[in-house]
Amino acid sequence: MRELEKADSTPKEGADPSAGDVRNEMLWQRTLKSSIQCTGVGVHTNQRVAITLKPGAPNSGIVFRRVSDAGVIGEVRATHVNVVDSRLCTVLGSGRSLRIGTVEHLMAAFAGLSIDNAVVEIDADEVPVMDGSAAPFVFLIECAGIVTQAAARRAIQVLKPVSVADGERHVSVMPAATFSIDCRIAYAHPMIGQQRVRFTLTPSAFKTELCRARTFCLEEDVSKMRDAGLAKGGSLENAVVIGRNRVLNDDGLRYENECVRHKALDCLGDLYLAGAPILGAIESVRAGHALNHRLLNALMSDATAWRYVLHDAAEDELSVEAERTMPRAASA
Ligand SMILES: [Zn+2]
Repeated sequence: MRELEKADSTPKEGADPSAGDVRNEMLWQRTLKSSIQCTGVGVHTNQRVAITLKPGAPNSGIVFRRVSDAGVIGEVRATHVNVVDSRLCTVLGSGRSLRIGTVEHLMAAFAGLSIDNAVVEIDADEVPVMDGSAAPFVFLIECAGIVTQAAARRAIQVLKPVSVADGERHVSVMPAATFSIDCRIAYAHPMIGQQRVRFTLTPSAFKTELCRARTFCLEEDVSKMRDAGLAKGGSLENAVVIGRNRVLNDDGLRYENECVRHKALDCLGDLYLAGAPILGAIESVRAGHALNHRLLNALMSDATAWRYVLHDAAEDELSVEAERTMPRAASA
């Protein structure tokens, strides 16, 4: 890992992925190979939504572009400074009227597959819920294909512990060489109870361990949410609904501890709003979107708590994959 100055923290473009020098140890930024579209409904609004995932330029990050039949309404970059609400889901905003809600599962898919740059065109105010997990977005991104780009990938190296708490809920990050989550939940409901998952991020671990975990709710809360005008698009098609003594979904659970895995998925997506992958160990106890964002703000606003580094984890699964997919220079 080599430090980058925060003042000049953008990795240089024009780096050559096939250069035979020390830079070959770096990881390269990744984006989609081609554009791909899907439609669905917003879980909170029940609006029909079309999204198109498009390749993004090096160093452009993840950008949501709100469009309508009349053209582009506006853009908002997926970073923590643009989070305008985190009570029920994570909402990005810009100016008075541009709002993009429920970005967390799509952000988790980008984080999990190590996609640095992409444009998400969306024709409504909420990302479609799909099946309540990140798996449909992973499928879309893999269908579009992933390419490495001629710019070095940077990461946020955590330098000291940072934590935030709300009563007995807390979330913290400790310095570490890779991104990991130790996530715990505790519900009085006997069908959930206490659950824990420990996860270290690689694309393959993400696909097998986290990406299929769906959002969940208690049957007793469904009518309350409906009465409050929330979760209008929610159904057994896009959430696990937990009844008094059974799971109401016909196919049951996808993982025995699907609930806590989904919390870890949300955490991964929320923390990717740092704008780069975090090298740190997360501990999350009964936390949700609001605490995830408080942690991110606490970390990023403390200049002594982190620094940018070139992401060159030598044994990292991505670097192995990059070697396979990296464009080879014509023999010089
Ligand atoms: Zn979620």
